[in-house]
Amino acid sequence: MECLFCNIIKGDIPSYKVYEDETAYAFLDINPCSKGHTVVVPKTHYENFTEMPAEEAAGLFATVRMIARLVEDAVSADGSNIGLNNKPAAGQAVPHVHVHIIPRFEGDGGGSMHSIVSIPGAGDDLEEMAELLVME
Ligand code: 5GP
Ligand code: ZN
Repeated sequence: MECLFCNIIKGDIPSYKVYEDETAYAFLDINPCSKGHTVVVPKTHYENFTEMPAEEAAGLFATVRMIARLVEDAVSADGSNIGLNNKPAAGQAVPHVHVHIIPRFEGDGGGSMHSIVSIPGAGDDLEEMAELLVME
């Protein structure tokens, strides 16, 4: 089996497990952005989030919510960034869906979602964009 996270789920590659149930596995990130940085993965291999069936994606996020509470409490965080890099263009390095829970602390000097990318002119025509994106 080639997939790094599938091998972690199977236990063939060691990890610091935070939580496990029938559908999800959570473990400490090997290169944490902050104390308690945890990664939650579905046990079924999907390369990226947008290819996951809706019900499994919903289940994954219910688990993420539960673990985020646990992690924030455990490290006495003031908040957390919760999200995923979807596909390589967005920074996804490991091609198995994984949600990051990055605990945050007042004054830790980090940024928000807005610090990921900022493309000039992205907001030039919001009306046209809304027409393109709207689902009826
Ligand atoms: P990505 O950049 O794909 O969103 O996130 C991949 C994450 O997996 C990174 O934060 C990286 O530190 C973590 N990671 C990569 N390899 C390993 C590993 O072997 N063990 C653990 N625990 N985390 C890993
Ligand atoms: Zn996998």
